[in-house]
Amino acid sequence: MITIDDFTRMPEGTIATPGGRVVRCPACGRNGVLEHPGNDAPRCVHVEESEILCDGMRTDPTDCCELAQ
Ligand SMILES: [Zn+2]
Repeated sequence: MITIDDFTRMPEGTIATPGGRVVRCPACGRNGVLEHPGNDAPRCVHVEESEILCDGMRTDPTDCCELAQ
């Protein structure tokens, strides 16, 4: 089953993911969740696709902005 999370529709300050709060994206001005994946540049995820698999959950950002540090 695939679910789509559209963070642009959530108000600022909403806890959308574990540890992820909705903020206004400094790059495009829409709402999104800030992520800091490993050593990569932080990104602001606007739309995310999640799929429940037998061995866990896979999430794929389908719409996000890379943020310069
Ligand atoms: Zn953005």
